[in-house]
Amino acid sequence: MNPGWFPTKFDMITVKNITKHFGKFKALDDLNLTMDRGECIALIGPNGCGKTTLIKSILGMVLPEKGEITFEGKNIKNDDEYRRDIGYMPQIGRYPENMTIEQVLNMVQGIRKHASDVDLDLYNAFEIEKFKTKRMRTLSGGTTQKVSATLAFMFQPKVLILDEPTAGLDPIAAEILKEKIIAAKNKGCLILITSHLLSELEDFVSQIIFMQDGQLILHKNVDDLKATTGQATIAKSIIHLLKELKS
Ligand code: ADP
Ligand code: MG
Repeated sequence: MNPGWFPTKFDMITVKNITKHFGKFKALDDLNLTMDRGECIALIGPNGCGKTTLIKSILGMVLPEKGEITFEGKNIKNDDEYRRDIGYMPQIGRYPENMTIEQVLNMVQGIRKHASDVDLDLYNAFEIEKFKTKRMRTLSGGTTQKVSATLAFMFQPKVLILDEPTAGLDPIAAEILKEKIIAAKNKGCLILITSHLLSELEDFVSQIIFMQDGQLILHKNVDDLKATTGQATIAKSIIHLLKELKS
């Protein structure tokens, strides 16, 4: 019941009819999507289906030719402020090569100086202190991922967008990150995560988005997905559903 004066609760993120071409290639094809607070959404689909392009569109790093994206009800076009509420872990993190880890972390904290409470859980858990004086160009892929993960969680964002976060991490670091993701989910963050390892998502995702050729094929609650397919795992449910869609 809404008495009229009660503030409308906007969807956290909506994507409306977005299309993006790279040259003649259509990377996103009239895609529509709503993401609510508190959900932990797995974004999956074959290589090249447009997952990263969708993520970058939400972040304003890729500009779709058509359509609109809103964040808490506001169009993100010509807006920078909304990004403060997003922690982003890129698929491939790129940093100034000659800066040390410590310098990068300090620089970002300097830019985000309004942030009072800096979350150093991952910095500590990954023991970054031990190699903070290493330059970014000398780091292994996994260590760069640890820096990216630390930065994504550092400013306690409302929304976390994690693009293949565990790719390249050693198993222990991957487990540390997974626990941090679950803690963020329990605090009510909206989480959008891509991963090739469906088994790794099993414990904590609440919804699945499956994309193919720049289109959204399905967006479902995990429980509904398992119930309708009669399968016990996300991976089996999706394979089951894809077979059905094809037939
Ligand atoms: P995914 O993350 O699902 O693997 P991407 O969103 O990275 O897929 O890429 C979707 C498609 O768009 C791929 O075919 C990719 O080669 C192409 N693409 C992505 N970014 C660019 C770009 N900047 N220029 C040209 N093509 C691109
Ligand atoms: Mg990608």
